[in-house]
Amino acid sequence: MARRKEVVIVGAGPAGVFAGLALSDLPGVRVRIVEQGPDIDERLATRGAKKGKLDPGWLLRGWGGAGAFSDGKLTLSPEVGGQLKSYLPPGEVNALLGEVDQMWVQFGAPQEVYGGDEDAMAELARRAARADLDFVGTRIRHMGTDRCPVILREMRGALGENVEVHARERATRIRVSKGRVTGVDTAEGNRYRADYVIVAPGRDGSQWFMEEAGRLGLGRADNPVDVGVRVEVPAEVMADVTAKAYESKLIFYSKSFDDRVRTFCMCPYGEVVKEENEGVVTVNGQSYAGKRTANTNFALLVSTRFTEPFHDPIAYGRYLARLANLISHGVICQRLGDLRLGRRSTSERIARGLVRPTLGCATPGDLSFALPHRHLSSILEALEALDRFAPGVASRHTLLYGIEVKFYSARPHLTEKLETEVTNLFAVGDGAGVTRGLVQASASGLLAGREVRRRVESGPQ
Ligand SMILES: Cc1cc2nc3c(=O)[nH]c(=O)nc-3n(C[C@H](O)[C@H](O)[C@H](O)COP(=O)(O)OP(=O)(O)OC[C@H]3O[C@@H](n4cnc5c(N)ncnc54)[C@H](O)[C@@H]3O)c2cc1C
Repeated sequence: MARRKEVVIVGAGPAGVFAGLALSDLPGVRVRIVEQGPDIDERLATRGAKKGKLDPGWLLRGWGGAGAFSDGKLTLSPEVGGQLKSYLPPGEVNALLGEVDQMWVQFGAPQEVYGGDEDAMAELARRAARADLDFVGTRIRHMGTDRCPVILREMRGALGENVEVHARERATRIRVSKGRVTGVDTAEGNRYRADYVIVAPGRDGSQWFMEEAGRLGLGRADNPVDVGVRVEVPAEVMADVTAKAYESKLIFYSKSFDDRVRTFCMCPYGEVVKEENEGVVTVNGQSYAGKRTANTNFALLVSTRFTEPFHDPIAYGRYLARLANLISHGVICQRLGDLRLGRRSTSERIARGLVRPTLGCATPGDLSFALPHRHLSSILEALEALDRFAPGVASRHTLLYGIEVKFYSARPHLTEKLETEVTNLFAVGDGAGVTRGLVQASASGLLAGREVRRRVESGPQ
């Protein structure tokens, strides 16, 4: 009788979950999903109690990964949220994203899609062009932070009996012999034999994976790092835009440095949140399906791609975030008017402002102590352009929170099926530098999972 095939998936974020779904009920195969964080029921039960305080990794670790309590925007355009289009032809990427979208819907994502009105998109694009901005219209389905974990819990429940979830178990070592993957060791003392390994460690595990990739001698490419601020304005300022596009991606090239500045992760009627990753505090945003604040927030990020001899964009982003943490004990919040006047914001000044901060634990301060001149100038110029697009964005009352850092993890060399240079070792999702959003992370997991399935079904390799 043929020996049972063993698959190990490292990480239970959307990428790992979709890889698991692709392999669910595959006869003759055992799939172990090894996840360092808690299972979804435990995450749901402890939600809030541990948020950000007792357990720094609460937001990022456990079943559902960073997706579980994310804003839950399913971005359906291949231009946003990942680089799958650099691995697959456009037709295949579109088909894959469409399939993934339908799977999210099947498990409970809402039917409504924003951004489908072409006339409204064309009008926004014209308005943006007059303001010196490039508008990238994206179709979005919004699940909301409250609905995400429930949907991911449904996916957990749909896994076949051949899939075992090992929560609170951390992969430490990927074993390789003669160019083929042979297993995964964990911090809990288990040595799992594996014919196939899909590594999906997310941003939280990217450092670990890069160290493993270095030890295994895998070649890699560096990605850009995006550094900036989270902008918070009264929701009315963006209301006509967010009603039509929900998420508008607006791109600006700064006059002083010709740097690319873009908006990212628009959260209409949402709140600014603190994110903690390996001791570094940054900001992010989220909005709920069932409750609204009076504000809209979005990230404004400056992209930098370093060249010789520097190869560590992640360290650069973390260094700047640490600097902001050092002077504020966390997140800095500043009114745009104070920043322009070269003075710090204080609690009194913010209280006098017209925008009520939704992140209560931010420290009023001065972002110019933490952000390089290059980034700050580009952000200020971009805000002026955005003000022409949506008057009020660059009001002196606008709040800026810092800093926000987004990086693609370093990217190992991968095939079009996301296989590394080691046979049967696949790397997917944000931790492999391939994606940075729910849909593309899910799609990358599905792609690798299906390839493993195909190989198993087609017999010995
Ligand atoms: C606050 C917030 C809001 C967001 N909002 C959106 C949004 O609206 N739309 C959108 O598209 N994207 C959003 N994102 C990004 C999105 O969540 C990620 O792109 C997506 O979750 C990436 O999926 P992933 O599976 O690659 O990684 P992750 O979701 O990060 O999951 C990786 C998992 O691997 C585990 N892991 C890591 N290392 C190990 C190891 N050694 N052993 C075992 N387990 C390990 C981690 O604990 C984690 O659970 C948001 C993120 C945050 C933090």
